[in-house]
Amino acid sequence: PLLLSGGTIEFDNVHFGYVKERKILDGVSFVVPAGKSIAIVGSSGSGKSTILRLLYRFFDSDSGNIKIDGQNIQLVTLESLRKCIGVVPQDTVLFNDTIFHNICYGWLSATKEEVFEAAKCAAIHDTVMNFPEKYTTIVGERGLKLSGGEKQRVSLARVFLKAPSILLCDEATSALDSTTEAEILSSLKAIASNRTSIFIAHRLTTAMQCDEIIVLENGKVVEQGPHEVL
Ligand code: ATP
Ligand code: MG
Repeated sequence: PLLLSGGTIEFDNVHFGYVKERKILDGVSFVVPAGKSIAIVGSSGSGKSTILRLLYRFFDSDSGNIKIDGQNIQLVTLESLRKCIGVVPQDTVLFNDTIFHNICYGWLSATKEEVFEAAKCAAIHDTVMNFPEKYTTIVGERGLKLSGGEKQRVSLARVFLKAPSILLCDEATSALDSTTEAEILSSLKAIASNRTSIFIAHRLTTAMQCDEIIVLENGKVVEQGPHEVL
């Protein structure tokens, strides 16, 4: 069957290891109600990005269930699942192509107006218009000609264009200047409104903007609640 909408996300006693000998997720359970946002915090290597990889089905869990709107994600088509989900990854991968094509990656039917609008929402339009070759600027191998913040905003523009019902954001660990950081944060806030969102948060400011925070430790959820109570 197809996954038709992307509302409530549910992890129910999920176990997972990349290799048999080493468990990464050890019975993870949580629910993100439709339209709400959660932040996942935890030390480096605790399995935060792994949770997103399972939701996007880069890998399948060893046991337990992951459901979206009550539908087990292993029982719906991969295409319909991924259509509902927008990902802002920890390290944005860009293709050695123009900025325009990097934004409409996967949506070749997008019009110029739609791409510009998405870029404006992601606070990257003005930056691009200041490049000598504007939207036809080639980003270089893995996007090397752009700064970290610019790359992340290009991937944000991609997500704005896709307008998915679920947003997964793996916050970059690298330091951004405070202006860029504030810009990205406000774009993310705009993109997350009315969407079911999971933020992997390295910054306290990000975590505090979410409805709930989950603390992950040794592959287990050790605390959960709104930030006021944690
Ligand atoms: P960070 O805050 O540094 O991004 P994280 O909580 O996102 O950390 P994960 O990327 O989920 O951590 O990785 C959890 C553990 O799984 C790490 O110890 C990592 O070494 C291991 N791991 C991640 N990807 C793979 C892989 N493809 N194959 C084998 N082990 C992996
Ligand atoms: Mg990570």
